[in-house]
Amino acid sequence: MTQTTKPRVLISGAGIAGLTAAYWLVQQGWKVVILEKADTLRKGEYVIDFAGTGWDVAVKMGLDDALRARQTPIRALCFQDHQSYEKARLSMQDFVELMGVADKFASINRRDLQELLYELVQSHIEVRFSSSIHSLKERETGEGVDVILQDGTAEHYDLVIGADGLHSNVRALAFGEEVQFARYLGYHVAAFRISGVAGDEPGLMSIMRIPNKQAGILDLGDGDSLALFVYAKESNAYVPRKQRKQVLIETFGEMGGMVPAILHSIDDSTSIYMDTATQIELPTWHSQRITLIGDAAYCLTLISGQGASMAMGGAYVLAMAMGTPSTNNIESALAEYEARLRPFVEELQNKTRRLASSFVPTSQFDLWMNDFIVRWLHFSWVKRYVAKQFSLQSLFEREALAKR
Ligand SMILES: Cc1cc2nc3c(=O)[nH]c(=O)nc-3n(C[C@H](O)[C@H](O)[C@H](O)COP(=O)(O)OP(=O)(O)OC[C@H]3O[C@@H](n4cnc5c(N)ncnc54)[C@H](O)[C@@H]3O)c2cc1C
Repeated sequence: MTQTTKPRVLISGAGIAGLTAAYWLVQQGWKVVILEKADTLRKGEYVIDFAGTGWDVAVKMGLDDALRARQTPIRALCFQDHQSYEKARLSMQDFVELMGVADKFASINRRDLQELLYELVQSHIEVRFSSSIHSLKERETGEGVDVILQDGTAEHYDLVIGADGLHSNVRALAFGEEVQFARYLGYHVAAFRISGVAGDEPGLMSIMRIPNKQAGILDLGDGDSLALFVYAKESNAYVPRKQRKQVLIETFGEMGGMVPAILHSIDDSTSIYMDTATQIELPTWHSQRITLIGDAAYCLTLISGQGASMAMGGAYVLAMAMGTPSTNNIESALAEYEARLRPFVEELQNKTRRLASSFVPTSQFDLWMNDFIVRWLHFSWVKRYVAKQFSLQSLFEREALAKR
């Protein structure tokens, strides 16, 4: 490689992890190509609590003000029974205080975060939509990866990054079938935006619950609502797009309030995200010249509340490990990336597994306990207990503390 030739990286997936990795690798002097399977940025809409490691990375990218400006305004979480009778309420201000994240936090639509990242990086990289990898092979001489795309084109890259989410294509091609690495946490999740059905309190997130089922409806204040349905189920079988409305109607048929109107308003234009809460656990996230980041490597699930945050964190740590561009040090940089991130990720995954059993209350008693805790949050011992369960401490804070 001459001094003037930039090393080339192919990233599979223009999601949170892929776009963040692209930004930082461009900063490090790489030439970046992203392949995105969809014909546009992913449409699925749900609000994420964004803080911790991802927030720190966003600040380094100068995105914090934009994140605050694009926030989805949530005023309060209102816990209700299945007929939408209010049981307990938690203001967003109290929630943020409880998490100890103060102004380093935004509730943001996942799609808005992805768009912000895309706007930042698009003029510096090549993004090919409706495009995907068909096969890939590392050269035995250690000189990079030969890639065949779905349209038959053959290309060569110094590095390939799989940032293609929970059902990663790169992981399947380079490390093995998903089933070997998937740990189902027992829930199905559906999220979508619906027009023309909303409550009368803009910014209120109503959370209706019966044992093993939870329907969250956020009144966006413009006549639209964001719906988030979670239910426990033994089987993790995929629900095909065409069956989603019917499955939700059957599963949440006992619920009243706005739920029936929301579900019956689903039509062909409603883009329903529906998947399982499944962790990914691989013995290693990299080979010589291929690596994984974000959900593809270590899916944390919505239960952790840190999947997007750690997708950005992983992308940043990987790019920093790459350092000054050189094709000689790629394998050791990949090992460094994994060594720095893995202990933190494994801790989050362990914690998430513990939280999973109570993520949706399984009995009337659990529901009562849940409401009790929310009502008594002003007591310091309850506060300490909850804050410990949901700590959003960032990787970088943790590292700084360890150095003291
Ligand atoms: C309901 C819900 C709530 C959540 N709440 C939070 C929260 O509060 N806080 C938080 O931090 N996280 C949260 N998360 C998790 C977070 O959304 C994910 O962890 C995050 O989106 C992972 O980013 P990613 O880039 O790794 O994967 P993705 O966002 O899944 O992006 C992967 C990209 O790869 C593309 N792709 C897939 N296959 C291919 C292929 N073969 N070729 C090319 N491209 C491909 C996809 O189209 C997509 O664009 C939540 C998740 C859900 C479902």
